[in-house]
Order: sequence, then structure tokens, then C-alpha cells
Amino acid sequence: YVTAQHLTKRFGDNTVFEDVAFSIEQGEFITLLGPSGCGKSTLLRSLAGLNPVDGGIIKVDGEDITHLSPQQRGIGMVFQSYALFPNMTVQGNIAFGLKMKKLSADVVEREVAKVIELVDLTGKEKHYPHQLSGGQRQRVALARALVVKPRILLLDEPLSALDAKIRKHLRQQIRDIQKEMNLTTIFVTHDQEEAMIMSDRIFLMNKGEIVQAGTPEEIYTHPANEFVAGFMGHYN
Ligand code: ATP
Ligand code: MG
Repeated sequence: YVTAQHLTKRFGDNTVFEDVAFSIEQGEFITLLGPSGCGKSTLLRSLAGLNPVDGGIIKVDGEDITHLSPQQRGIGMVFQSYALFPNMTVQGNIAFGLKMKKLSADVVEREVAKVIELVDLTGKEKHYPHQLSGGQRQRVALARALVVKPRILLLDEPLSALDAKIRKHLRQQIRDIQKEMNLTTIFVTHDQEEAMIMSDRIFLMNKGEIVQAGTPEEIYTHPANEFVAGFMGHYN
């Protein structure tokens, strides 16, 4: 459903990744796991069109999206920091995702109400971001990504700013929503436990390379090399 071939990205003379390839089935939950600086965010932003690649091809559902603008790609993205508009309500922030589409006010209201219910923010419609907890803000960001009915959902460490209890709750909620919508998802984390618990498959990344792709069990019990063994060994 999503395929990438020969992806290369450089910033000046810093090559972040080179000749990266992978393929993802529709509805799969993939975790991109790896140490800080290995290129996870850059790869995700490249898929979203925010960091155009220097080489390679990205296809979604057979369509070459490599040179499409972020808006044309049908991709929803949630970042580590909430990136909400402080002067807009929950409703306004979520509706903003629909602004590019020329929809009637009625339709916008209905679609926004649907995702508010989906992410469990009913009653908070008129609140501003500063009146919400971190977990609630991240659910607004998730709702804003979902309201456009994306073909792919990209999540860049959406839980990392949250405390342990909320984090566990929200990761379950993300997984439930993702399954219910059969939404192809790539989730970035550097937390091995989170990757083990949440993923259909893990792409373990190091220094700009996907060093192993497999189910959590495969990666944990049959690490492809010492890096994988060492990195997954920290889990527990
Ligand atoms: P973390 O877990 O800390 O978020 P990461 O795996 O997401 O790390 P990236 O943010 O993708 O890592 O960074 C990978 C490399 O690309 C780093 O060397 C970084 O300095 C470089 N880099 C990322 N964004 C830019 C940019 N906009 N301009 C120049 N270099 C960049
Ligand atoms: Mg990052």
C-alpha cells in the first residue's frame, strides 16, 4: 500500500539517509524505532512532503506521490509538540484541517463533531489549548489529522511530552482508533517498550538505515545484528 524505493535525503553535505526502501500493507501499524538523530523525523517528514527527498520514489496505493505537495498527499501528521493554534478553540483547531477543502459549514461541523467524539473530547469543543491537559491537546492534534480522512497517519513521538499514565492510556486509544479505521500508520518513537506493545511491525533504524524490519517478536528474538540486539536489550 505504501512503498518507498531508493529514498535519499541530504541537508547540505549531511546525508541523513540513502537508498532506503520499505513497503507497508494497508492498515498496518508500523513503528519507526531508533536512537536520537538516526533520521526518524526526517524520514517521516519526507513521506509527508515537508522535507522533499533528493532521490527515490514514494507510492501510496499505486500512485506516485514523490513530487506532490503535502496537501495533495492525503497524509495526516501529528508532531511531538502539539502545534495547536493558541487563539482557536478545540473546534476551530480541528476545523482548520478542513479549510483547504471547500465544504459547507454544516458538513465541517458534522465532520468535526465526529472526530471529537472519536478522540473522546466531547464537552471540550469551546476550550482553548491552554485550558487543556497535555494528553487532551495531543488528542486535538490527532483529531485534526484524522478529520481529513487521511490515507496514511504519521505520528512523530506524539506521546513523549506526556506522563507515564496518560501515555499508556493514549497509546491504547491511538491503537484502537487506528484499528477501527483500518488506517495505515507510521508511529515514531525511541521507546522500545512502546514499539513492542503497539506495532504490527517495527522498522528499526540506525544512522539513516532501516537495519531490520519485522514483528516485535522477530526483532526481539532474532535480532539481525549486534546493534539490534543491543538496542532491544535495553527493553525490560
Ligand atoms: P530524535 O529521536 O532525537 O527526534 P531523529 O531520529 O528524529 O532523532 P532527525 O531529526 O531525523 O533524527 O535528524 C537526523 C539528522 O538530520 C540529524 O543529524 C539532524 O541534525 C539532521 N537534520 C534534521 N533536520 C534538519 C534540518 N532541517 N536541517 C539540517 N539538518 C537537519
Ligand atoms: Mg525526531
